[in-house]
Amino acid sequence: MTTKSKAPGFATTCIHAGQEPEPITGAVTVPIFQTSTFVQESFGNPRQGYEYARTKNPTRLALEKQLAALEGGAKVPATAHAFASGMAAETTLMLSLVKAGDHVLVSRNTYGGTYRLFSKVLENFGVTFAYVDTTDAKALRTAVTPATRMLFVETPTNPTMEISDLKALAALAKSESERIGAKIRVVVDNTFATPFFQRPLTLGCDIVVHSTTKYLNGHSDSVGGAVICADPLDGAKIGFTQNAAGAILSPFDSFLVSRGIKTLPVRMRAHDANGRVVAGWLAAHAKVKKVFYPGLSSHPGHAVAARQMSGFGGMISFDLGSIEAVKRFLDRVVVCALGESLGGVESLISHPASMTHASVEPEERLRRGITPGLVRVSVGIEDVEDILADLENALAAV
Ligand SMILES: *Cc1c(COP(=O)(O)O)cnc(C)c1O
Repeated sequence: MTTKSKAPGFATTCIHAGQEPEPITGAVTVPIFQTSTFVQESFGNPRQGYEYARTKNPTRLALEKQLAALEGGAKVPATAHAFASGMAAETTLMLSLVKAGDHVLVSRNTYGGTYRLFSKVLENFGVTFAYVDTTDAKALRTAVTPATRMLFVETPTNPTMEISDLKALAALAKSESERIGAKIRVVVDNTFATPFFQRPLTLGCDIVVHSTTKYLNGHSDSVGGAVICADPLDGAKIGFTQNAAGAILSPFDSFLVSRGIKTLPVRMRAHDANGRVVAGWLAAHAKVKKVFYPGLSSHPGHAVAARQMSGFGGMISFDLGSIEAVKRFLDRVVVCALGESLGGVESLISHPASMTHASVEPEERLRRGITPGLVRVSVGIEDVEDILADLENALAAV
């Protein structure tokens, strides 16, 4: 899509980046290249670098180009790699960029699976992690040690929607890198915001990770992940480990995620519109003790979120005060399906303490504000009146 010299807009990029028509038939959609290997042109001459599908597959490559264009855009010529899950993406990232003796700072409120990977798996390999409040960039300086090599940030966080100032964190990492004489990379888990609302690489961060399982695929029918790097040398390291460790995204899932991304702007606008209505409605409801949504002006991260994001999306958490209230409520929802995960067109509702964050120790959970009464809703793109009626009906049982 290079008809004019002006860089294409975001929606055009979603639909066209990496999605060239297939050269033999002209198929407008990149085919699912369901093949493990590729016949060579002649001895020592693979066709266009295609040799074996763990290393390179045309369907996955099309998605990787699309992801790189979305997160980097015209400003940052990023590289992207797609993996079998968000956790496979994070595993590959860590295997590529940290080693024994390194220290990593992590948002204290990160996704439960990220915490489990870091604390229960990677600690065994001599990497140390400190869980810190990344919403306060200044205070973070005291947590940096001479061994710090990475700052792993989630914003908004799951499930309490804490907001970290990415520009401030990138600036802090830069000055601290100079002070300790070693590069501290800033990695952002951009799963909740998606590049439609927030582009960390354009704010000075180094790497973005995604669970494509959520909004990027958007239809709750694929598990996948991605790593997108601003620095081509980091991208090459990720690519090397992707091939060496092999946690690749399959051709069929690559096709699904590419297809999902084509409607990302229309879906995210709808999630955002419904999210704002539902958050406002919950905040005014007598049975709801507290609402966590960055779009509410009462939210402590609202000003930063409004500055670095172009929308607030459809993720909302709220507190019903007790596990008994949660049980009565969750047994009654119908439109909002009770289940883990998020980011699909359908509304999904969950209880973080017993579901997504069950892998976090109880004391650690409370420290993160994940109370027994906390409910998380991924507001879908159904008619908002139906979502509100469902919540009202279930709240009546509380
Ligand atoms: C789901 C999720 C992950 C993990 O991704 P999987 O695809 O489930 O492996 C990581 N980070 C965040 C914020 C998530 O929501």
